[in-house]
Amino acid sequence: MKIKDIGEFGFISRLASRCHQTLPEGVVGIGDDCAIIPAPDGRQYAISTDLLVEGVHFLTSEISGNDLGYKALAVNLSDLAAAGAEPCGAFLSMALPEDADVDFLDSFADGFNGLAQQFHCPLLGGDTTLSKQGIIINICVIGIRDGNITVSRANSQPGDIVCVTGALGDSGAGLEYILAPDKERDSTANALIRRHLHPTSRIEEGKFLARCKYVHSMMDLSDGLASDIKHILERSGVSADIELDKLPTSPLLQQKYGNSPSKLYHYALHGGEDYELLVTVDSKHFADLNVEYQKRFGTALYAVGRIVCGDPQHVNYIENGFGTMPIGSSWEHFC
Ligand code: ADP
Ligand code: MG
Repeated sequence: MKIKDIGEFGFISRLASRCHQTLPEGVVGIGDDCAIIPAPDGRQYAISTDLLVEGVHFLTSEISGNDLGYKALAVNLSDLAAAGAEPCGAFLSMALPEDADVDFLDSFADGFNGLAQQFHCPLLGGDTTLSKQGIIINICVIGIRDGNITVSRANSQPGDIVCVTGALGDSGAGLEYILAPDKERDSTANALIRRHLHPTSRIEEGKFLARCKYVHSMMDLSDGLASDIKHILERSGVSADIELDKLPTSPLLQQKYGNSPSKLYHYALHGGEDYELLVTVDSKHFADLNVEYQKRFGTALYAVGRIVCGDPQHVNYIENGFGTMPIGSSWEHFC
């Protein structure tokens, strides 16, 4: 059997079951965006790590060093956001080919540091080694959150409203232009590419939402809503109704594909790398939470569906009030 036969998540669950140990009280391990470790002062450390591989996650011909440094940290901070944690610091490990360009690496450091300064997330250490092929970047981020926060992918309950913190699909549409360098790029295409290269980490939004006891589950959208929501459903033992016509898309994406709802749905569901938060909230308190959220952040929580009882492997898709078939599929490593 090859890894492509079991996929990324099949591999992770095999690994987790073979390496299973009883965790100390309060420690949360594999399964959420961050591991959680109780801190001596009663708060909780949130820790996460992400890997970026040249040729898989980025092409050096299509991304500046500055954007790569920014994005490498941004996708890690996004996992802290999903845990509602405040960044404390980061470790950066790099495998570099011997001909890696030092100007590119300086610019990488500047992009990394710009975002690190914005979120008070200093570089605390790392490791550097030779790569025989391409640049490999691993970042580990450490954050801290209040001790009473319980938000987790495993806490969704039937009746919860499923919502997202922003427009979906721009990044995936931008990536398509990056992967087809001959495709003509107008200003809208360039703006979509920018959205792919420069995701926003929803740290403040995540901190606010995690503190609200009516927010049950939270995760960040890295692979695409259609695939990511399954992690919440599996861990919570529930199903979900998702309303395609409620998926928020940006004016940019609408400008490009507004005459084709199925294209908009495709990017919003499967585009990936939007790094918005996917949140499930007690329905009785959703409206009040959304008023408070909009006051603070100037944008809304977009309700896109509901958690329901049912098969955790299954998402019910609805369009204009009627059940419909799912379309397309999201990014899968190894398949
Ligand atoms: P994210 O997209 O938020 O980075 P993933 O979907 O990659 O999270 O991973 C899901 C869970 O599996 C996380 O809890 C992550 O820490 C864990 N995980 C992924 N790969 C490994 C691995 N090689 N060893 C241990 N845990 C892993
Ligand atoms: Mg994540």
